[in-house]
Amino acid sequence: MEECLFCKIARGEIPCREVYADEELFAFEDINPQAPTHVLIIPRKHIPTLNDLGEEDTALLGRIVLRASEIAREKGLHKQGFRLNANCLESAGQSVFHLHFHLLGGRPFGWPPG
Ligand code: AMP
Ligand code: ZN
Repeated sequence: MEECLFCKIARGEIPCREVYADEELFAFEDINPQAPTHVLIIPRKHIPTLNDLGEEDTALLGRIVLRASEIAREKGLHKQGFRLNANCLESAGQSVFHLHFHLLGGRPFGWPPG
């Protein structure tokens, strides 16, 4: 059993505000939201970073992105737009080493990011 924070959240061992769950994926509200909508979408499989993906994860990644777009639509963000991002390693802002995608929406975002 992985001792990782997000593995524990996906297993229901640490409480969260669940947004979506199936056999392969889990989504929940970020505890420190950076926008009116801030959802984290994760695979149940423990993959530490984007550097650790393999060919076998291709379909999984596709389903994460598709699920993110469906959650965005459910939250009414599909017309105004939203942001989907994954931080890889500390210099890019990664603080939890279980692959996750941030779905952010409900306010304008600047570009380039800080
Ligand atoms: P990152 O910095 O890209 O690794 O993103 C990690 C995210 O996890 C941050 O936005 C945190 O606010 C969020 N986070 C950390 N602990 C929890 C938790 N227990 N429940 C929900 N979100 C969390
Ligand atoms: Zn994990």
